[in-house]
Amino acid sequence: MIASHLLAYYFTELHHDQVQKVDKYLYHLRLSDETLMDVSVRFRREMDKGLCRDTNSTAAVKMLPTFVRSTPDGTEKGSFLALDLGGSNFRVLLVKVSVNGKQKVEMENQIYAIPEDLMRGNGSELFDHIADCLANFLDNLGIKNKKLPLGFTFSFPCQQTELDESILVSWTKGFKASGVEGKDVVSLLRKAIKKRGDFDIDIVAVINDTVGTMMTCGYDDHHCEIGLIVGTGTNACYMEEMRNLELVEGDEGRMCVNMEWGAFGDDGALEDLRTDFDLEIDAGSLNPGKQLFEKMISGMYMGELVRLILVKMAKEKLLFQGQTTPDLLTTGHFITSYVFAIENDKDKEGLESAEQVLQSLGLNPSVEDCIATQRVCQIVSTRAAHLCAATLVAVLRQIRDNKAAERLRTTIGVDGSVYKNHPQFARRLHKMVRRLVPDCDVRFLRSQDGSGKGAAMVTAVAYRLATQHAERQRILDTLRLSHEQLLEVKKRMGDEMVRGLSKQHHKQASVRMLPSYVRSTPDGTEHGDFLALDLGGTNFRVLLVRVRSGKRRSVEMHNKIYGIPQETMQGTGEELFDHIVYCIADFLEYMGMKGASLPLGFTFSFPCHQTKLDQGILLKWTKGFRASGCEGEDVVMLLKDAIHRREEFDLDVVAVVNDTVGTMMTCGYEDPRCEVGLIVGTGTNACYMEEMQNVEMVEGDEGRMCVNMEWGAFGDHGELDDVCTEFDRIVDDCSNNPGKQRYEKMISGMYLGEIVRNVLLEFTAKGLLFRGKLSERLKTRGIFETKFLSQIESDRLALRQVRSILQHLGLTSSTCDDSILVKEVCSVVARRAAQLCGAGLAAVVDKIRLNRKLEHLRITVGVDGTLYKLHPHFSGIMKETVRALSPQCEVTFLQSEDGSGKGAALITAVACRIRH
Ligand code: ADP
Ligand code: MG
Repeated sequence: MIASHLLAYYFTELHHDQVQKVDKYLYHLRLSDETLMDVSVRFRREMDKGLCRDTNSTAAVKMLPTFVRSTPDGTEKGSFLALDLGGSNFRVLLVKVSVNGKQKVEMENQIYAIPEDLMRGNGSELFDHIADCLANFLDNLGIKNKKLPLGFTFSFPCQQTELDESILVSWTKGFKASGVEGKDVVSLLRKAIKKRGDFDIDIVAVINDTVGTMMTCGYDDHHCEIGLIVGTGTNACYMEEMRNLELVEGDEGRMCVNMEWGAFGDDGALEDLRTDFDLEIDAGSLNPGKQLFEKMISGMYMGELVRLILVKMAKEKLLFQGQTTPDLLTTGHFITSYVFAIENDKDKEGLESAEQVLQSLGLNPSVEDCIATQRVCQIVSTRAAHLCAATLVAVLRQIRDNKAAERLRTTIGVDGSVYKNHPQFARRLHKMVRRLVPDCDVRFLRSQDGSGKGAAMVTAVAYRLATQHAERQRILDTLRLSHEQLLEVKKRMGDEMVRGLSKQHHKQASVRMLPSYVRSTPDGTEHGDFLALDLGGTNFRVLLVRVRSGKRRSVEMHNKIYGIPQETMQGTGEELFDHIVYCIADFLEYMGMKGASLPLGFTFSFPCHQTKLDQGILLKWTKGFRASGCEGEDVVMLLKDAIHRREEFDLDVVAVVNDTVGTMMTCGYEDPRCEVGLIVGTGTNACYMEEMQNVEMVEGDEGRMCVNMEWGAFGDHGELDDVCTEFDRIVDDCSNNPGKQRYEKMISGMYLGEIVRNVLLEFTAKGLLFRGKLSERLKTRGIFETKFLSQIESDRLALRQVRSILQHLGLTSSTCDDSILVKEVCSVVARRAAQLCGAGLAAVVDKIRLNRKLEHLRITVGVDGTLYKLHPHFSGIMKETVRALSPQCEVTFLQSEDGSGKGAALITAVACRIRH
């Protein structure tokens, strides 16, 4: 007992001494956390260099685009073929992916030999051989007649230009077939298959083994967005944002980047860390000066590094009593799997392995030698694990920054013999990664047959994407309008306008074409002080407008916003108008004009029947107003009565104005060509100057009159049925006024968000979005406000901001692809709205042109409304549409500033000018 106790003590001491000796000797191979952080920062810079167009050509880390744009989402299904060339064996695989309730992958695979003479012979013979193997495989399984999709893992350095196009840069790993370098390997394979002519397949993707690893793990864990290989060589890939990938067109979404990180340091970036041993390994390698990072890490070099250290230590008499043997001195005789065996920490197995290995090399090691050798192995493999951790950390930080996430939760798919078979490597790698980025939750997932299954997975994903893409586009196509359809909308709008104007058809027309009794736009000679009221917009306001003419021509406005209590809106008409008059009195006092009697314009944005400028018979309250005793009454009379009741001041109510007309007049003051008013806000409407002879509802044929079209109701008689979608019908059915304002419901701010929401619902229900998970939030009416359409389509907005908008909407599980799709839906819905609006406007301007019998018309449209003003693309698309549909009109658009306030005053001013 005592003896063994003493022995253990003695051994511990001995162990400690040897470890110290080696640690001191290999000081340069032991990297501190600070150094590793520094390596990580350097690597991040190398990544940037590789990603940027200007620096890519000189970058050591090439950051190759793979054209793999999406990882598995678990809904993939079908049978896929895979070829695996460039690993230890050439294989053909059949991979069946099924989702019947449970994800499942089944594989059949067959290894085929590639004769030496084919590897170095004629390239076309090599590909003929591959096609033969494939034919044999299909024959054996009896599936030669099925045209299956195929993924090709081709693990050689390639320049990829498409998912199914990959140009071999140079052969490696003993291959040297002629006529392949510089060629697309997919076309070579296709050609070989075609030459046989007895079967056909659909080659969908070429990938690299790193990508395969990521994709294989991605099937089991949807967070997997990094692939890592530490085997014979080392490399990694990850999902990068397209906007950072300057070498590929497009900014949307992500793409997997094959970093080729083994070449880190080839430009000298690691010089201070490379030891004499690293220099020696490189000098003796087949590719000196290349893959310097890989040479510090991967399985191909690990044993050799240990050997070089042992030799040097022996020569310095630190080991083996200064002895070496021919075996120890021979390159390649200390293989990497020795390192795995020696580092086994189970009992004394590792030390026993050390003894066996050293003996097999002809040495006669002491216990001390074995302990020291084990320590050397530990230091070499630990450095490898830690360097690998440092570069991985750079990738993790890049992804975290891309997502602007506080904490990153991600998964790394890993393959390779060093990672899988070394007893300590994986643990050391994990530990160091977590130490260097404590704010990332990283999961490491071992990949099972990444190169075989991976190619099938990439193909499966590509297939799913293609199928889903087609299905989404089919749905979105119902929301896309052709030029012919738009021309038809324009024509029908024109027809409805004629009907609305005619005495005979007016009652049946969907577009009411209400005369406004505004006969003239401002000519700049208007002047004076005017009051204006604005009721029916978002706020009730009273305004004082001072119009000056001549040299000091200007409009000066003062206004005050007043609330209208709910009970007043829904009380009696007298209460409502008393309140309005009280507000006017308060305003006059506030302006120091108590008791003044001024002409007043009344913007009253409810549908009114007018028979003269200063009379408006309310047809129907809308927008939450319900005051009794007003419908069917003249609102000017109601206002005058209330003024008389107050007996404090007198006002000359000159005009009742609709907001469209106000908008036209406001812009008309700046630009005399402005003869159309347009509103695209909560609702949509338009007005324009029509020839009196066409306005059959009003006596007289001289001059013109502004007609308030009330065009929102276009379509109420079925004129839009053939362009309406199921989404429009749902939005209409769920509205407060089903069957009414159909055109408005396809265009204006109150409805666009709802249309988008319904499309998203449909996509989700069909499993095309949000992984098919319907959230309660998304089912809520009104949750998707129209302002989100503007935000999401803003060009400056990165995709991750789209995602944060979606998160804000409670759509938390959204992926990057989801964001792209949501953006596309928003864009399609807004485009259709702008085009429909443009088609209506095209009808208006062309009617004006024809009224005046002009070949060519120059005209200005005054526009108001938040949707028009704030949506990033609405106005542009609308203009484009008008130009396309009415090429003989040259239309200028002018944004109105406060059309309802200023416009009412200007109409009053014009009326007063004409009166005098
Ligand atoms: P109104 O039409 O009631 O007079 P606005 O012209 O301001 O008022 O339009 C308000 C409507 O504009 C809102 O109902 C909303 O649908 C829409 N909207 C608000 N913000 C935005 C935005 N940023 N982009 C597009 N539409 C918006
Ligand atoms: Mg408005």
